[in-house]
Amino acid sequence: MNIYVLLKRTFDTEEKITISGGSINEDGAEFIINPYDEYGVEEAIQIRDSHGGEVTVVSVGSEEAEKQLRTALAMGADKAVLINTEDDLETGDEYTTAKILAEYLKDKEADIIFAGNVAIDGGSGQVGPRVADLLDIPYVTTITNIQVDDETVNIVRDVEGNSETIQTTLPLLVTAQQGLNEPRYPSLPGIMKAKKKPLEELELDDLDLEEEDVEAKTKTIEIYLPPKKEAGRVLEGELQDQVKELIHLLHSEAKVI
Ligand SMILES: Cc1cc2nc3c(=O)[nH]c(=O)nc-3n(C[C@H](O)[C@H](O)[C@H](O)COP(=O)(O)OP(=O)(O)OC[C@H]3O[C@@H](n4cnc5c(N)ncnc54)[C@H](O)[C@@H]3O)c2cc1C
Repeated sequence: MNIYVLLKRTFDTEEKITISGGSINEDGAEFIINPYDEYGVEEAIQIRDSHGGEVTVVSVGSEEAEKQLRTALAMGADKAVLINTEDDLETGDEYTTAKILAEYLKDKEADIIFAGNVAIDGGSGQVGPRVADLLDIPYVTTITNIQVDDETVNIVRDVEGNSETIQTTLPLLVTAQQGLNEPRYPSLPGIMKAKKKPLEELELDDLDLEEEDVEAKTKTIEIYLPPKKEAGRVLEGELQDQVKELIHLLHSEAKVI
């Protein structure tokens, strides 16, 4: 089984987010593997362990993503690939990322490609389906269970708290939802082994891509934090008076009735 996991290095959203110069301030922030991609890595390792084959983790980004790729190798992935866009591209969007990943994957004969359901920073949930579309293979999103039986794949996916069961075939791209598994922590021997596992670094040139082939289709106009929540108001007095005042406030201030 030839398994790929699309892995994004993300800003840890436990961090306090501040904005400066129109973009999120990354100084001193912690970066992690996008949590949904961790489910993908774990599931890929489990499928490889029961069916044989190889797990490759792939990231588009800067050299800094090496740390997260090494963590995936320490979890048990076999190989890592960093497609470094630092010198070639200043901006990009979901199209850019998906196009680069699809170009890398197009001749890899992947059986299963795992992506996260969504990246916890950018949060568009577009990259997985876009890659599948560019590769012209089927995809199933927000999966919570996957069983591979030769060419047949049985999947359970989360649909707003309910479940849908789907049967499909390989090759396939799936996006991982919370509940798919419990990702393992890298063990000490795993961390030692990861240092010797292959981490290939590629640039756009190696994929025969020019800057204009992956030019962003969208432009971010503005990034801003949500308005600060105002303190709540506690009504006092007799219950009947409170109800009257509440109705008055909902009408005159909140303007919802
Ligand atoms: C060269 C370049 C420059 C960029 N510049 C900016 C910028 O200036 N400002 C800005 O806000 N954003 C920038 N981006 C990021 C971009 O706008 C999106 O955030 C990104 O393409 C993915 O979209 P998303 O975060 O919504 O991911 P989603 O579509 O929500 O991610 C879903 C899944 O797709 C996969 N995936 C997503 N991104 C990657 C990745 N990089 N590598 C591997 N797998 C991935 C993961 O499996 C992830 O779980 C840039 C991207 C590139 C490639």
